[in-house]
Amino acid sequence: MIPVEEALDRVLSRVAVLGEECVPLGRALHRVLAEDVLAGADIPPWPNSSMDGYALRGADTSHASANDPVRLRLGGRVAAGAVAQRSLEPGEAFRIFTGAPLPDGADAVIPQEDVVEEGVTVSVTRPVQRGDYVRPRGEDVTSGETVLTRGRWLGPAEVGLLAAVGRLQVPVVNRPRVGILSTGDEIAELGTPLGPGQIRNSNSYSLMAQVVEAGGDPVVLGVARDDLDAIEARLRWGLACDLLISSAGVSVGDHDFVKSALDRLGAEQHLWLVDMRPGKPIAFATIPTEAKGARPVFALPGNPVSAMVTFEMFVRPALLRMGGHTRLDRPVIVARAQSPIDNPGRRRGYLRVALSREAGGYLARLTGDQSSGILKSMVAADGLAVVPGNTTIAEGAPVQVIQLRTV
Ligand code: AMP
Ligand code: MG
Repeated sequence: MIPVEEALDRVLSRVAVLGEECVPLGRALHRVLAEDVLAGADIPPWPNSSMDGYALRGADTSHASANDPVRLRLGGRVAAGAVAQRSLEPGEAFRIFTGAPLPDGADAVIPQEDVVEEGVTVSVTRPVQRGDYVRPRGEDVTSGETVLTRGRWLGPAEVGLLAAVGRLQVPVVNRPRVGILSTGDEIAELGTPLGPGQIRNSNSYSLMAQVVEAGGDPVVLGVARDDLDAIEARLRWGLACDLLISSAGVSVGDHDFVKSALDRLGAEQHLWLVDMRPGKPIAFATIPTEAKGARPVFALPGNPVSAMVTFEMFVRPALLRMGGHTRLDRPVIVARAQSPIDNPGRRRGYLRVALSREAGGYLARLTGDQSSGILKSMVAADGLAVVPGNTTIAEGAPVQVIQLRTV
């Protein structure tokens, strides 16, 4: 059995970042930047007022006091979106509003509530320091600065910054298109009646959701019967995708044909039987194609939780890499076991746990039955506790947890 870390190395060494496309800024949220973005100009482009008030020269007010106010001539007015008609002369103040460019000659602003306007003069009763309430040119961004680097996942603030530097089109890494195939004679598609001995296809849907969460674009390849030709044909369709996932039919039973179908497609197999529970039988292969190089294929186990956990451990990092992300791993925290966490088998356990906060950290407790068919205990899980084989984590002892969602 291959250790999980080595299995992941074998996967990641065989997937590469996809090409890029340009999208309108309005569509760039949650995409991954494909190139560094440099600012073409300073932001703000000129010094401007951060308050509604009066622009002036600080030096003119150095002796101002309540007893001996300084009176400045009101020489002009500048609102946001306009520029002053002339320079400010010594002894003058210009009415100014938030966001308006500071007139030449001025070096400070006094807020309107701090002065008394007396017709053609304003009366200042305290010294104003040079730079007060002035946002200097380039305060946020300087021209030529790299404001975002490639590989950056674009959230709302990044989108705002791209707008601020005037990027209408954004180069982003292509979303991986991921073909998803379920296999099994017992699997009925949703919306079709359940025949004798049949169950619903849940894997296609949980995997689709996981693909979307990992930034991919799922392509449904349906359900193939446990039949070598049928599976081969569906996988062949899927070769148009950037990556393929199948579930079930990958063990060594009489009805397990996925690996033979991969052989028929000329796949090179890199992985089989990983030291983990759930999820031991997982195959990873690459299928050579004429276009765009070899296609990575994951043959995941059929049990619903095994499929999800092996996706989490191997497919997700592969998709993130293809999608241009630089960070591929989930956060791992150390929690204390709220009650004993037992991993009875020989394989390393990835046990479903709920997390709660306690002073200074987290508590972890098993979410219930850990069988690989129990989706309900996956639903309740905030993370996967990583427990060596044949080990019980005692109550209160530390345990590593891969965090699937924040609590
Ligand atoms: P297999 O890997 O083919 O031996 O399947 C293992 C278990 O997973 C069996 O109990 C299957 O019925 C179940 N299973 C396989 N595919 C799916 C699916 N698409 N949705 C839900 N359960 C499945
Ligand atoms: Mg089967």
